[in-house]
Amino acid sequence: MRYGIFSDVHSNLEALEAVIEAYKSEAIDKYFCIGDSVGYGANPNECVAKIKAITAVAVAGNHDQASINLYPADNLNSFARQAVLWTADYINEETRYFLEGLKLTFKNEDLTLVHGTLDNPEEFNYLSDSDDAWRTFGILQTNLCFIGHTHLPGIFIRDMLDNVFYRQDPSFKLKQGNKYIINVGSVGQPRDGDPRAGFCIFDSGSQTIHLERAAYDIAQARRKIIEAGLPQYLGDRLLSGR
Ligand code: ZN
Repeated sequence: MRYGIFSDVHSNLEALEAVIEAYKSEAIDKYFCIGDSVGYGANPNECVAKIKAITAVAVAGNHDQASINLYPADNLNSFARQAVLWTADYINEETRYFLEGLKLTFKNEDLTLVHGTLDNPEEFNYLSDSDDAWRTFGILQTNLCFIGHTHLPGIFIRDMLDNVFYRQDPSFKLKQGNKYIINVGSVGQPRDGDPRAGFCIFDSGSQTIHLERAAYDIAQARRKIIEAGLPQYLGDRLLSGR
């Protein structure tokens, strides 16, 4: 099975379209989205329609929940809060219905999905270091957990001696006996200094992970953000990928 797994689209239609195009040559069997489909960008309805059309499962992010009043907007920084209020006002019934239906976690025979951490997923804490990873590894019932939320692609590994490592290799071969937490990065607002859209491919047959990037029309996504009356900073930061 070849999985296309992505996260944090954040209403960036140009980035999402580039990622969907890049996936086309990858013979993907199943798509998963790990949350924050909306927030920050100017096209929440268009992005949700595309995500709904291709994904087998999507889970909830904090921006998804905040946009429908399921998570307190006061917990977000000022730019994120402004974008959430804009989104709440802008979204149509179909988008709202999709966001309301999102669960916090998902698990199948191969993998688990959660936006932030498996401990208290409803709090949307960041999984940033080995201590955070340790707590999620302790709860994880599959060998693999795919996450988003920090917008920083990378892989936490727990080996058979219970050591935890962090790697940022774009291609990675999984070893039997280890457990992995894979952060797939962000489609619509990368923050690792590479402004291209981030996405992941997991091949369960060859047991390989690929953390990929796709170039997209950043200038247009930025222009739409500014024209929509969203904070200019949210458009500007797309240029630097920070
Ligand atoms: Zn996010």
